[in-house]
Amino acid sequence: MAHYGLIEAGGTKFVLGIADEAGNLSARHQIPTTTPEATIGASLAWFQAQGLNPAAIGIASFGPLDLNRASPSWGHVTKTPKPHWDGADLAGPFARAFGCPVGVETDVNGAALAEARWGAGKGLGALLYITIGTGVGGGFVADGRLLHGLSHPEMGHIRMPRHPDDRDFPGFCPFHGACLEGLVAGPSILARWGASLSDLPADHPGAGIIAWYLGQAVTTFQAILDPERIVLGGGVMATPGLIEQVRAAAAASGAGYFAGDPAQVVVSPGLGSNSGLLGALAVALSAALAAA
Ligand code: ZN
Repeated sequence: MAHYGLIEAGGTKFVLGIADEAGNLSARHQIPTTTPEATIGASLAWFQAQGLNPAAIGIASFGPLDLNRASPSWGHVTKTPKPHWDGADLAGPFARAFGCPVGVETDVNGAALAEARWGAGKGLGALLYITIGTGVGGGFVADGRLLHGLSHPEMGHIRMPRHPDDRDFPGFCPFHGACLEGLVAGPSILARWGASLSDLPADHPGAGIIAWYLGQAVTTFQAILDPERIVLGGGVMATPGLIEQVRAAAAASGAGYFAGDPAQVVVSPGLGSNSGLLGALAVALSAALAAA
């Protein structure tokens, strides 16, 4: 059976894995994210020590990334404030070392592909994955393919109506202030209320306000993309009861107009702790298919 090299490239750690196409992991390893030279070098060394002869390599990475295959900097990190990583070449070192197809996607696009293939969207045609954590990102998969344009969607940066009790908060997105990410990501919650949603008292209005914004966002994405499932993941969504509040807010906002009832459409991720590596596997499988 063919084997694939998997890289879940995060801001604090790189998680590496080797798996077959069914997602059976035969090895797993973790490396702290320092400089591109050290981290990518250590990743290559680990794969080589495992004797990996991969059919393809999949990288699901923090962004922003250049994902335009026609671009000379395809597979590179683009403008990032993260020290050392501005312009770093993620794909090149692996392609040169192994001579196999290499796929690169944002981590959220990887998660969307994996959820569509093996998780909450299995057997369905159109899935939207939104992560709400330190930032907000979204990936859309239709018939097994990710939506791409010039690079990758930036769904966290849609403009938002304002909750009537939250008009004074300017939002924390450095580009747009009160875009979706600037209003609902973890740092915006800390900035307003000094604690994460799950640490606020049960009668605090914070969760209701965040759910209201996410409900508006759900109906916006329903109107544009018509997904069969909208998977809401990320640390903020781990708040107990929040997904039920988002469903109710989306139902109120959509006013019964859309084909999908938020009670069925809006779901939690179907994949557990290996979802990042499964995202990288889905990216590797797509790269292998594209090269065949
Ligand atoms: Zn923004």
